[in-house]
Amino acid sequence: MVGRMAVVSDTGRRRRRNEDAFVCAPPLFAVADGMGGAQAGEVASGLAAAVLEEGAGDERGEERVASLIQEANRRVFQRSNEDAATSGMGTTMTVALVDSSGGTIAFGHVGDSRAYRVRDGRLEQLTDDHSLVGELVRSGKLSPEEAESHPQRSVITRALGTEPDVDVDTFTVEAQPDDLYLLCSDGLTDMISEDEIFAVLDGSDDLEVAARALIEAANAGGGEDNITVVLFQIGDGGEVEQTARMPAAVEPEPADDDEDTLSGLDPVPVVDTAVIPAAVVEEHLQQIESDVESRPEPRRRILPLVALIVLLVALVALAIWGLTR
Ligand code: MN
Repeated sequence: MVGRMAVVSDTGRRRRRNEDAFVCAPPLFAVADGMGGAQAGEVASGLAAAVLEEGAGDERGEERVASLIQEANRRVFQRSNEDAATSGMGTTMTVALVDSSGGTIAFGHVGDSRAYRVRDGRLEQLTDDHSLVGELVRSGKLSPEEAESHPQRSVITRALGTEPDVDVDTFTVEAQPDDLYLLCSDGLTDMISEDEIFAVLDGSDDLEVAARALIEAANAGGGEDNITVVLFQIGDGGEVEQTARMPAAVEPEPADDDEDTLSGLDPVPVVDTAVIPAAVVEEHLQQIESDVESRPEPRRRILPLVALIVLLVALVALAIWGLTR
């Protein structure tokens, strides 16, 4: 049922390494965007992708997608506990599993790597980012335009591999002939607008050309992060032809700080933003915004729950102290 597909992953213009990974093994597709010090980001995303490629399991649809992501989570978490060099590593993961017999596609995701669909001349984002700005946009506290250039847009609120269990979002869509699906890391969506993405994809009859054009556009827009693009189109029973290419890395410009890590904020376990009151999130944002403005570029980080808890405990203690007096 998958007609055509293409995948391109590129280091971009600012990073020394490519910490993104992908799976292009129809009917299964995925993108993973790793994070962590040294080479831990590559280890995390690579491990997670490898688990998907093994692809064991009897379930179907969303159940299968969720259990694959949970298994990937366990493996990354286990490795980071065994190997101090990879401690605290994690990765995003966005997975699509095409069910030919049912004419559906099951998606599952953790983090801010996105899935899009082009249908009827329109580009639609299928996933909700598990990111601080994503939560603020959904709660109406930030406009989508403000989010695009927000200094905290790399802060994700869920990651795979940082805790023994992970909260996975899953959903299923009906597949139609000629639907075009895009899975991508934030290195694409942070650098170019959805209008630009749509302009490249609309009417494209060569997916590899389209994938390369997206990478080129993201690099032209700054190429500040690794860029990964997975495209697949639903066919009408035709031949499956696969094109997977890894272009040579662009010679990176030396960056002041190549660490794509939790540095700058305390390393903490990943948190589900559902448990963070919006007021606390906002307070936290204001608190860190000033020092972030002086930084060269946003780094992927996880919201420091520990810092929030310390703050809350301090406030409660202060209130109790005040009352007892
Ligand atoms: Mn990224």
